Amino acid sequence: MEDCIFCKIVRGEIPSFKVYEDDKVLAFEDINPISPGHTLIIPKRHARDLWEIPDEDLTAIHLVSKRIIRAIKTALNPTGVACVQLNGPGANQVVPHYHLHLVPRVPGGPELPVAAWEIKEGDMGAIQQTAGRIAAALKGSS
Ligand code: AMP
Ligand code: ZN
Repeated sequence: MEDCIFCKIVRGEIPSFKVYEDDKVLAFEDINPISPGHTLIIPKRHARDLWEIPDEDLTAIHLVSKRIIRAIKTALNPTGVACVQLNGPGANQVVPHYHLHLVPRVPGGPELPVAAWEIKEGDMGAIQQTAGRIAAALKGSS
């Protein structure tokens, strides 16, 4: 995609702090890191989000995430790593090119905002009804 910032990174038109690359996948450091080692993994082929990304690129990204999370463990000794992936403006996806965030919490670092939501007891009837709607939609899909 011509104007997509991550496609520009893939094409080398803007710089990035690259940590990994193969024929399908690129991983680089987020320039507004939530914590040291905040890494983004993207498909080289443009896809907007989880609705759009082809299975083979999604598989490649998630297999690479295992390699990178191991490297983050070796390099930074984190106490945990959050894997976050946002879809659509309502979820605050800012860059419309699929990306998986790996966000380490380094020793002594603050709690990760992406992993610190408040737990509130749900309405079991509403949960059951929503589960039924999703399960029914799944029956009609491949
Ligand atoms: P999201 O809200 O999931 O779409 O997050 C987009 C992420 O991309 C943000 O964390 C940004 O800091 C990051 N980002 C935007 N432009 C760049 C860039 N040129 N290089 C690295 N990270 C970027
Ligand atoms: Zn793109």
